[in-house]
Amino acid sequence: MPDILESPEHVLSTLERDGSRRWLYPRVSPGWYWRARRVVGVLLIALFVLLPHWRVGGKPALLLDVLHRQFTFFGITFLPTDTLLLALLMVSVFLTVFLATALFGRVWCGWACPQTVYMEFVYRPLERLFDGAPGQSNRRSVVRQVAKYATYLAISAALAHTFLAYFVGVDRLKVWLTQSPLEHTGPFAVMAITTGLMMFDFCFFREQLCLVACPYGRFQSVLLDRGSLIVAYDRNRGEPRGKRGPSLPILPDQPQGACIDCGLCVRTCPTGIDIRDGLQMECVHCTQCVDACDEIMDRVGQPRGLIRYASQNEVEGKPTGRFRARLVVYPVLLLAAVGTLVGLIATRSPVDVTVLRGQGMPFSVTEEGTIQNGLRVKLVNRLDRPVMLRIRVTGTREPVEFDTQDTVVRLEVGGVATQPVLVTAPRSLFVTGRADARIVVSDDTGWERDVACRLLGP
Ligand code: SF4
Ligand code: SF4
Repeated sequence: MPDILESPEHVLSTLERDGSRRWLYPRVSPGWYWRARRVVGVLLIALFVLLPHWRVGGKPALLLDVLHRQFTFFGITFLPTDTLLLALLMVSVFLTVFLATALFGRVWCGWACPQTVYMEFVYRPLERLFDGAPGQSNRRSVVRQVAKYATYLAISAALAHTFLAYFVGVDRLKVWLTQSPLEHTGPFAVMAITTGLMMFDFCFFREQLCLVACPYGRFQSVLLDRGSLIVAYDRNRGEPRGKRGPSLPILPDQPQGACIDCGLCVRTCPTGIDIRDGLQMECVHCTQCVDACDEIMDRVGQPRGLIRYASQNEVEGKPTGRFRARLVVYPVLLLAAVGTLVGLIATRSPVDVTVLRGQGMPFSVTEEGTIQNGLRVKLVNRLDRPVMLRIRVTGTREPVEFDTQDTVVRLEVGGVATQPVLVTAPRSLFVTGRADARIVVSDDTGWERDVACRLLGP
């Protein structure tokens, strides 16, 4: 078999020159940002675990009940028929991400993304506990490996259960936990597959998820501009880089930048890149290189901040106060989307009423000479209790109630029904083949909603 041609340089930070996987075991740089991120990470893990247990107005704070097609966000339930509300919610989420990225770069990736939080503050610390710090391969005994993967499995199973609670609710999950898996094979299979996927991700796939699978990193180049805050290496201050120390004195005729080329910023990077090569898609803005370099600057007696949070303009010494259109456009659009969403939620009816025409003939004439129209009334119950609804049809000009057949409908919570309504109206009501009417829907509490409709006749 011919030898594989080796690339003259590293194409990807996670690939060796022969194309095999380059496994990354980044060194921890426990600086100020690391400690702050760990506090944020612990709080986020607590939030992730507790959110399904939190109730707002008797409902879960967050429940994505795909089975019953109901989505609850902080006490507000959205149904599949809420297309506009769901669309506005999605647009608001996207605009918030766009605005946060324009202001603070990939702050989500580095500080709040579950992949980063669990990888850096749960799985990697466990890995270091069982395997030792990077380079201590002598600690990788079989017993330690079995213990490590057993711990990973237990944590992944716990995570998978928490994840499932967002889709089925904690009450149903508690019941399942006390039953045999044979009594709920479907959910058990979902939980087992989710556990397997988490094991695959955190044990094997790891940084590849950020580098090749996550779409957010790919959009970085359009979401950021030169004024966005990023983790950046100050090239003007750092270059020309070079080793320095007692055995390597600074020569007066050779300019020397602040970077001593120690390589610590690369060894600590969880995606294996060199921040000194400039802004890269692989950078998740975890700030580990900032902490590493600050530690080195302290040691060599230089000011901190050779790698720091800064805009591209700032590190390149360009003016930073330029007007940025996206910082006006995003908030305006976000305000409009959130304002419309809040307005629609505040004014929405407890029961949706939509009137549709019946199928087939537009109308028919009875033996008595009255006109019959077939209509369909679509009803959606948004209340937290079942409702008994009555449908009446009235005229608009005269207080007349038209004859209709059985029109009492019971709707469960979140229930949707399309009720056929046969309306019989006097012929005298029709002018140029049309008559205006109102569909009135009421419940037993006195709530009432009426919708205009048009009857057809000769
Ligand atoms: S940690 Fe700082 S000094 Fe060391 S190589 Fe990176 S940028 Fe240069
Ligand atoms: S370059 Fe720095 S901020 Fe970016 S991923 Fe690597 S260590 Fe984190």
